Amino acid sequence: MSLADNYIALREETGNEVKIIAVSKTKPVGMIRVLYDAGHLDFGENRVQEMVAKHEVLPPDIRWHLIGHLQTNKVKYIAPFVSVIQSVDSLKLLLEINKEAAKNHRVIDCLLQFHIATEETKFGLSLAEAEEILHDPLVKEMRNIRICGVMGMATFTDNESLISMEFRSLKSIFNTLKEEFFSDDPGFCEISMGMSGDYKLAIAAGSTIVRIGSLIFGER
Ligand SMILES: *Cc1c(COP(=O)(O)O)cnc(C)c1O
Repeated sequence: MSLADNYIALREETGNEVKIIAVSKTKPVGMIRVLYDAGHLDFGENRVQEMVAKHEVLPPDIRWHLIGHLQTNKVKYIAPFVSVIQSVDSLKLLLEINKEAAKNHRVIDCLLQFHIATEETKFGLSLAEAEEILHDPLVKEMRNIRICGVMGMATFTDNESLISMEFRSLKSIFNTLKEEFFSDDPGFCEISMGMSGDYKLAIAAGSTIVRIGSLIFGER
């Protein structure tokens, strides 16, 4: 199947309830163009430099999602154009995003990234750490960010019951935060979970955003 066919098949399978982020990391801009011409606007990158370089040569209405670990000193490079930062894992980072967004007269959507996998290597917060951040009085004063939900990655494994359990734990974290901090904020509504290998399990567990790379673009 062609790139556009892969995308259209996935679109039909996932339906209108779930947003697809096409993860284009390491893939050339020509491939992004093909999907853009097929009507897709949401693309995910995990490196700041690569996102900036692609943004510069592609149409300005593309919505760029940063899905990789972000260092505070690099926020300034993406703040002028990034649509969603899905990998927020500290108050310090949130403050920096707010500051740089303000400089650019923008509001940047953010997701809090949680560590739900059993692997040590994956970044992200615990529920207690997120609660500590959200209790900080500074958070309410930030006018240039919007906290829209949560993001997480399951363990890289064939064990489907483990993966499902991890996705359900992210859904439960979302519910807890929604109740504690965002009960009157309809904007807090996103659960970004599911990649090429596990998106079906993620959707079954309540995902609203899947981040799909290799299934659309081919192996990296
Ligand atoms: C690379 C990446 C993806 C997409 O992975 P695929 O297995 O190619 O679909 C999704 N989320 C994050 C955070 C990634 O780094």
